[in-house]
Amino acid sequence: MSNTERTLSIIKPDALERNLEEEIKTLLIKNNLKIKDSKKIHLSKDEAAEFYKVHQSKPFYNDLCAYLSSGPIIAMILEGENAVSLYRRIMGATDPKKAEANTIRKIYGISIDKNSVHGSDSFDNAKKEIDFFFKN
Ligand code: ADP
Ligand code: MG
Repeated sequence: MSNTERTLSIIKPDALERNLEEEIKTLLIKNNLKIKDSKKIHLSKDEAAEFYKVHQSKPFYNDLCAYLSSGPIIAMILEGENAVSLYRRIMGATDPKKAEANTIRKIYGISIDKNSVHGSDSFDNAKKEIDFFFKN
């Protein structure tokens, strides 16, 4: 049975700064994910804090919010068969050093904090995160 899903992807500031938008988008499309919507946005620190609030108890929270709001990002709605888990696989592990070969983070990630992309971790969070960027 088919299971078409949508998930949220972000090209983070480190990757956008290195002009990797088109390369990353091409890689997503080659891996059977359709880009249904895409926009460039520069979040304020407060907006980044809202987006990452699940991590508010973590020691890296403040740096993470400062980083995500440090420059423009690309937010995208991806659609495909099992898109949430498919995109997590294509994205690779949080720490680029631990990411599998040919994943986005392995190819482009600089470090655990500058790991080039975000991806929703569940179907429910994907819905919430898509709404965060694309409602209205
Ligand atoms: P993922 O992005 O793979 O879902 P998490 O949700 O655990 O990972 O963390 C959110 C983001 O916070 C990561 O993408 C990374 O940029 C940052 N991060 C996670 N763990 C650390 C850490 N130990 N030190 C610094 N930054 C971290
Ligand atoms: Mg996460």
